This record gives sequence, C-alpha cells and structure tokens, in this order.
Amino acid sequence: AKPIEQILDELPVVTMFQLEFWQWISKYYMCATGEVLKAALPGAFLLESETLIQLSGEKDISEEILTDQEYLIYEALQRQSSLKIHEVIQLLDKKTVLPVINSMVAKNIVVINQEIFEQYKPKLIRYVRLNKKFDAEKEMHSLLDELSRAPKQRDVILSLFQIQAQNKKPIQIKELSSASGASAAIIKSLIAKNVLEEYHLKTDRVKFEIGETDQSLILNEWQQAAFEEVNSGFANKEICLLHGVTSSGKTEIYIKLIEQVIAQGKQVLYLLPEIALTSQLVERLQSFFGEQVLVYHSKYSVNERMEVYKHVLSGDTKAKIILGARSSIFLPFQDLGLIVVDEEHETTFKQFDPAPRYNARDASIVLANMHKANVVMGSATPSLESYFNATHNKYKLISLNRRFGNVQLPDIEIVDIKEKYKKKRMTGHFSDRLLEEIKITLEEGEQVILFQNRRGYSPILECLTCGHSPQCPNCDVSLTYHNNSNQLRCHYCGYHIAMQKKCMACDSLEITTKGFGTEQIETELKALLPEARIGRMDLDTTRGKHGHQKIISAFEQESIDVLVGTQMLSKGLDFRKVRLVGIMNADNLLNFPDFRAHERSFQLMLQVAGRAGRTKARGKVLVQTYNPHHQIVKQVSENNYFEMYKEQLEERYQYKYPPYYKLIKFTLKSRDYSKTNEAADWLAQGLSTIFKQHVLGPEFPPVARIRNEYYKNILLKIPPNQSLGKTKQYINKVLGSFRSVGVWRSVRVIINVDPY
Ligand code: ADP
Ligand code: ZN
Ligand code: ZN
Repeated sequence: AKPIEQILDELPVVTMFQLEFWQWISKYYMCATGEVLKAALPGAFLLESETLIQLSGEKDISEEILTDQEYLIYEALQRQSSLKIHEVIQLLDKKTVLPVINSMVAKNIVVINQEIFEQYKPKLIRYVRLNKKFDAEKEMHSLLDELSRAPKQRDVILSLFQIQAQNKKPIQIKELSSASGASAAIIKSLIAKNVLEEYHLKTDRVKFEIGETDQSLILNEWQQAAFEEVNSGFANKEICLLHGVTSSGKTEIYIKLIEQVIAQGKQVLYLLPEIALTSQLVERLQSFFGEQVLVYHSKYSVNERMEVYKHVLSGDTKAKIILGARSSIFLPFQDLGLIVVDEEHETTFKQFDPAPRYNARDASIVLANMHKANVVMGSATPSLESYFNATHNKYKLISLNRRFGNVQLPDIEIVDIKEKYKKKRMTGHFSDRLLEEIKITLEEGEQVILFQNRRGYSPILECLTCGHSPQCPNCDVSLTYHNNSNQLRCHYCGYHIAMQKKCMACDSLEITTKGFGTEQIETELKALLPEARIGRMDLDTTRGKHGHQKIISAFEQESIDVLVGTQMLSKGLDFRKVRLVGIMNADNLLNFPDFRAHERSFQLMLQVAGRAGRTKARGKVLVQTYNPHHQIVKQVSENNYFEMYKEQLEERYQYKYPPYYKLIKFTLKSRDYSKTNEAADWLAQGLSTIFKQHVLGPEFPPVARIRNEYYKNILLKIPPNQSLGKTKQYINKVLGSFRSVGVWRSVRVIINVDPY
C-alpha cells in the first residue's frame, strides 16, 4: 500500500458509457482503442509530437531522485527552457518517453504545456462597482457633495447608477468609461480613493451573444403530422428517417422534438455535417433555446473544446443541446435523450483520416442504444443506405413533400452545352441562357448562386507545342492554376510555385488551360457583368475561424449579388433572396470514378438547387451539361428521388455493393514503389485464400502517389449472410502474418470499414 499524495480529479473525466462506446468503435472500425481515445478527448495532447515540456520551477530538486533518463531531460531543460516531445524522443528511446515524462510530472519536476494548463483555468474578467460603504443613503449624499468640485468623477458615479438601474449586469471599466465620457484614468483614481472597487468574475471562453429567446414556433399542418409520426415511431423504439424536400422545415420539426426531450431534463446531440457552415442554424436554435445550446467546434481551441467537454460531463443546463460535427459523438453525455442527424446523406460524417475511420451517423445509433435514446435522421436526399433501411423495416420513413409556405420547388432547366453549339451559345463557361437569367434576376434585385465543384482557376495547364503540363513533384497530379495568387498549387500536399509564363519543358510561350474552377467563373463573370458584386465561397476564401461566417453574412445582408462556390453551397444554407441557381457543369460530378458518384451527384445538385426560391416566389435552376440525357440529370430536373433510388439500388445489387454487400478497404502505403506493390499482392493473395472472388484488386487509386508515398488499394466485399465478426477474425489473422514479414515493416496498412 502506498500513501495517496494528491487527488487529480474528484470525479472520473470519462464515463462508463464512453468506455463502452469507444470499445465498440475500435472493434467495429478495426483500430486501436488508443486511436479512438485520441479522437475522443479534446486535450489528448500528450500524444502529440509538438507538445512542450518545461521545468516546473520547483526550487529544491535533489538530483538523487532522478533516474538516469530523467536526468538527461532535466539537464537538457536547464540548457533550453522547453522541449518538444519529438526532441525528447531524440534523447531517449521512443518507447520510454511517455513513462519517463509521466514520472517527472508526478515528481513535480516538469510540467506539460504550461501554457495549455494555464489556459484551462477559467478566464477571469475585471469589473468595477461602488464601494459597499456608500450603500447607505447618507454616505452617498456626502460623497456626491464632496464630488461636486470634481464634476467628471461625479459623472462616473451617476452613470454607474443609471446603468445599474437599467440592468443588473456587472460593468467593466471600459464600459463605464464610454458611458460616462470619463477617461479610464479618472475611473482608476476613484478606485484608488476607495470610492469604487474592483472585483473579478469567472467567465466561460465559449460564449455567444444571445438575444431574447423566441419560442413562438407553430408547425404547419404537414409539419405537425410529420412531428406526430416521428413521435409514434419513437414510442415503438424506431429510428426515424425524415425525408423532407428542401425548405420543408425539417429544422422546425427537430426543434419541437428537442423541446420535448429537454423538458424531461435529458441531453440532445444535434449532429451536423460541417459546423463551420451552420452559423444560421446555430442562431436559429439559440434564438429558441437560449443558453442551453452549446456548440462543439473543430475550429475551437483545445481550451474551448475542453470547456464544452466539462459542461457536457456535468450535465448542467448549459449543455442540454450539443450542436456539433462528427467528433461530438465522443462527448461524455450523462443522459442522452435524442440524437438528430441533420443532412444524414453527407459524406463528412465519415472520418477519412486518421483512424478511427468512423461514420458518426452509423455510430450514433450505437451511442443512442446505450443511452436508450431516440434517433431521427433527416435529409431531402437520403443516402441509399438509410433509405434502404427505411423501406426494409429497419427505420421508420416519414415524408414531407411540401415546402414551408407552399412555395413550389424550383423549376429545373437543363442547358445543353455540347461542342457543336458552342460558337453561338457560350461566352467562356456561361451559356446564353444562364447569362440571360442572371441578368434578369439581378435586375429584379434578387440573388444568384453559381456552383462549380472545383476551386482554383484551372486544374490543367498544357503547352500547345510539346503537350507538357506542370505536375507536383511530390504527388501524381497536375498543379492547379490560382489566378489570385498567381501560383500553381498542388491540392494534395500544398506544394506551390509561381505561375510560369513559359513551358517548363520547352520554353514555348503558347500555354493553354483546361478545365475550370470557381476562380475562373468569378473572373469571367466580373468581365461580363462589371456592375454585379460577386463573392466566392470555397476552401481558399474561408480559411480561419470566421471565414465562412463573413461570406455568409455578406450574402445575407445583400452586399454580394452573386455567390460562386464549391460543394460548401449545398450544405443546408437558408438564404431568403436567392432566386436563381446555376450549376456550371454537371458532368465532372457524374464522371467521378466511384460507385457512389451518381448518388452523390444527384444529392449535390438537388441540394444546391434547393437554395433557390426558398421563401417567396418559385426559384429557377439551370444545369449546364454535355449529357442532357444522362439519367441522373433527368432525375434531378424532375426532382425524382425515388427513381434515382430504384435505379441506383438495382446497380448496387447487380455489382454487389452497399447496402447489399459491406465493404472493407485496405490501403497499403510506403515510400518504396515496388515494396508497396509486392506487399499489396501478398496481402490480396492472403485474403483471397479465404474470401476468394470477394477480394478486388490490388489497384492503384486515381492519385497513386501523395507526398512521395505510394498507395495501393484492396477492396473486400462481404456478402449479406457472412458474419462480420468472423470476417474480421480472419482479416486479423492474415494481417498478423503480413506484419510478421520483416521486409514490409515500412509498409503501412490502413483499414477502412464502410469506406466512402
Ligand atoms: P429544411 O431544413 O427542410 O430545408 P428549414 O427548416 O430551413 O427547411 O425551413 C425553411 C424556411 O422556412 C426557414 O427559413 C424557416 O425559418 C421557415 N419555416 C419553416 N417552418 C416554419 C414554421 N413552422 N414557422 C415559421 N417559419 C418556418
Ligand atoms: Zn512545351
Ligand atoms: Zn503535391
């Protein structure tokens, strides 16, 4: 037995629910529990190579208590004030680094990331108030008399009274200064005289300006019916899929469902595909639920995320509704009553890299089961998987076919831009039809959205003399030309060089561009309509914490007339004055080499189209394409989800893909081309002995080299009647023998269960 020196936490910071859930994730998605832990804990910084350690500042450290390894670090820290973990690794054997650092922390010799810990302490804010002795009326009068010779100081006191009569909120020096017109120095002199006193209050870092709440929401007839259907589904413990057309008011139904759960004192998780794009939704929920809504944001700092984590763990009133992207499924919920999966078809619910490669939509069902909570998923264009479940008695399907306010769904027109018409009908990438509609819309004071699923100016530069096109030296892709920065950039590794005027192979000056991105659309339109105010929303214009917010607000406040953007535009935005949506080119979506390409194109186009005419008059959508007779283009123009579903499902059945067959993808990667190849062959062979014809590949992906690492894929198809548990056992066996082959130690195998 040993004495307890210090209690680190009064209560566990991780709940039993979390442990159980994380173990499920690790087993289902075939990754280490440590990898799940790292994704789940907001402050899992011990594992980062950039983490700093510093001396604690403890004076009397006797060197005898240090082991040899600890002494190495101690000595190094006396020479330089801090060390990063990767620097420590250079001093010690990699395996012992963590135990050694932990032991040094326990002995209070070093601290980890001093700054981070400092910031975990709640932020303190300074306020001023009147000294208590002036509470008595008599004292007050004599004070004011006394100050009659110092009118500025007197004004400060009077302003303070006035403000406090209006609201009871604490007041800061700078507020008092601007209210009274007195300088901060005058206020400070009053503090020095003990007339005013300073005090501190703790404050949360995560904070929002929350106005009055407005709970006057009334569902219309159809929303009410859908709401009741969801409730009756919940009564039967069913998962509900709300298939409601764009702008039917799904959010309003979620709000009513959330209200019920909150009333029972339970927590709600509202999952969104991409939190940065959802300021509008955050505002709507906050205007209804006020301070009970907390946002869990990937762009938040560790401290901010830590704060949210603590609120959720304590189950206090500030953490009743958590609005977050996929990683919020890992929060320490105490008593979850409902999970809302908004825009459930979105692929961003799936984590691509690093492990755990989980799908938050699917995992949320397991999470809900643990808490005996309900799940409602919603979309105007459900994923094939979810719709399949809903029509095969696994989920309950609820349909909502009308837009709120009985606005009609937009009129979708196909514009054929095939080569033979080009001369008379196209100006740059704009057909006459599209230009004409843009002009009419702008003349009538309404707004336009233009969608092009590619950023930059143009993805391919080609020399007309020798055919050379500049490639990334680190990846197997051509460089994208960015006009604004006048650079050629790699979208995979970030490599960039200045734009070249001459061909890099033959010095020819004749260079042409192929393909186009959002920048080019913006540039062309500026030349065509110099009067129009054009904005652009893509990865390049939305960096930084408030990048999206700025553009969305500018468009909302109508300081932008035309918004050009990538798929970001398809994510549930609700603009009131957009009447026209132009899809610049449907074809590059359709031709993407993936079995979900058609489903995804349908969803993207219909979602973007759904931004048109949401509130008043019917909107208009123009789809430019070289394939006007493509079945997906036709289904989009007819808003025919069901036909798309039937047709795609038929193909999935025929070619053995989800939702019928499950998929596990193996990606092998290494810096050595032939090793990658050989290892992939070996693994595929090993898997084939058991899974036979259900093993596909190995095959190089479309971009086979990224950052000088070579990639090769193997796909395993799992028939519906084959046990998933047994399959994984076999896989682990094969992987076990694979890993025992020494020459392949440098080849990494990435396992992706249910890949997207
Ligand atoms: P969806 O999520 O289905 O695309 P939204 O929930 O964004 O649709 O609703 C579309 C628009 O209609 C929003 O501006 C919303 O405020 C409004 N709206 C929907 N239902 C109601 C309602 N019952 N009362 C008032 N406004 C509503
Ligand atoms: Zn050339
Ligand atoms: Zn690159």
